Amino acid sequence: MAVKKQYAIIGMGRFGSSVANSLSKMGFEVLAIDSSEQKIQEVASMVTHAVSADSTDEEALKALGIRNFDVVVVAIGQDIQASILTTLILKDLGVPMLVAKAQNELHGKVLNKIGADKVIFPERDMGTRVAHNLISPNIMDYIELSDNHSIVDMRASTNMIGQNLIELDIRARFGCNIMAIKNNGHINISPLADYRLREGDVMVIVGQNDHLNKLELALS
Ligand code: ADP
Repeated sequence: MAVKKQYAIIGMGRFGSSVANSLSKMGFEVLAIDSSEQKIQEVASMVTHAVSADSTDEEALKALGIRNFDVVVVAIGQDIQASILTTLILKDLGVPMLVAKAQNELHGKVLNKIGADKVIFPERDMGTRVAHNLISPNIMDYIELSDNHSIVDMRASTNMIGQNLIELDIRARFGCNIMAIKNNGHINISPLADYRLREGDVMVIVGQNDHLNKLELALS
């Protein structure tokens, strides 16, 4: 059996503690690090190990054996200097997968430049998702693939139920592709053209952002 990945999360703010908690609930080993003793006490019961340490102190990170973790998440947002220094040190120590949270675009650019493997913008991305969900309540998720392309999860509205994919004609009308259809935990990859939409179906659609936006407005 494959050995379960080990995760270290640095910064137990709202975002970091939520990541740590979710990974723990899924059964993964999680090391939580924060400079605040109080934060560490708050999360101690939900993670495997919780340690109070300053992540800008290279020796402290070495002593924690940080490079033995498969993935390290830098979840420090407010203190941009601490976030950048921590990322730099972790990169130098040779952490295999380094994920860093950015507070804004410039912060994100710096994190990319100094070698973060993945930079995330939780507030910006959640804001985009909420906006799409507001204009069309059938949009359940919205994931940006690039600046111009995204994937949306769109619930089949009442007027679509019973129609097959040829009748819906999303490719010709909007230039978007239905990649999969999810329903109640089941997923149908590459549905056939004669597939008829059923109650509870969620279409996973890929396309150019402006095409997806037109589709959202037309079909909502
Ligand atoms: P959020 O917006 O997700 O709540 P914050 O930036 O407010 O994130 O919180 C980041 C957390 O990181 C805080 O709990 C803070 O104590 C911790 N932190 C900040 N600097 C360091 C550091 N140098 N070492 C370890 N933890 C730090």
